[in-house]
Amino acid sequence: MSWQATILTLFPDMFPGPLGLSLAGRALGGGVWSCQTHDLRQHGLGRHRAVDDTPFGGGAGMVIRADVVDAALSAIQAPEGAPRVFLTPRGRPLRQQDVSRYAQGPGVVLLCGRFEGVDERVLEARGIEQVSIGDYVLSGGETAALVLLDACVRLLPGVMGSDESGVEESFSDGLLEYPHYTRPASWDGRDVPEVLLSGNHAAIAAWRQKQAEEITRERRPDLWSAWLDRRERNEAAAGRSGQSGRTGV
Ligand code: SAH
Repeated sequence: MSWQATILTLFPDMFPGPLGLSLAGRALGGGVWSCQTHDLRQHGLGRHRAVDDTPFGGGAGMVIRADVVDAALSAIQAPEGAPRVFLTPRGRPLRQQDVSRYAQGPGVVLLCGRFEGVDERVLEARGIEQVSIGDYVLSGGETAALVLLDACVRLLPGVMGSDESGVEESFSDGLLEYPHYTRPASWDGRDVPEVLLSGNHAAIAAWRQKQAEEITRERRPDLWSAWLDRRERNEAAAGRSGQSGRTGV
């Protein structure tokens, strides 16, 4: 059974878009996942198939109607247990752990907003999670949905070449990844860090770990302090159980 993405949108032509190419595209062609769009406009009202209306309380812009979204939700066929997600800057930030949870399930139902957003009541009434891809405002939820799907699809079994590349990468252990280098060993007067040419695997692993820690501390104080907290807790737990020495995180 393939992993199923069902997308409710006013712009179905935006899918699969870039996900029709490369890794995700091959997986789509190979039936690892499927991408079904459903046009919200089909459920619009009146001669003009209106999906939106002016906001109660006044203010700029338009809001997508609850009844239109609900009719679309009733019309789709999504796998049992697939989470429903509304992409919105008001949502909780999307994290790698969410992506991994979605990828392990049967698929996702994604609702893409436009204009000012969607009537809050249908989100509450139909158990729709609200997820943001970052602290900036896009013109619509479609590009955010593509981001979420890209992150999920590369985790599906058989999509990535080497199984390892999913394990040892940014966020997987709470740190950003160490820097990468390839041939030539000397380029533009810059040499690759010597330890990487040493063949000493323990020294290489230690160097990479240190780099990952430094980069995380410098670029992402939020991830760094969470990582330190976790290390402290692990060390305390190891201490209580009478272990000694290094504990890892
Ligand atoms: N008035 C809204 C922004 C609307 S942007 C607000 O201030 O919160 C129009 C649509 O783009 C949204 O409904 C949402 O579906 C999508 N969108 C915009 N920014 C996004 C983000 N950072 N993450 C996910 N979806 C986003």
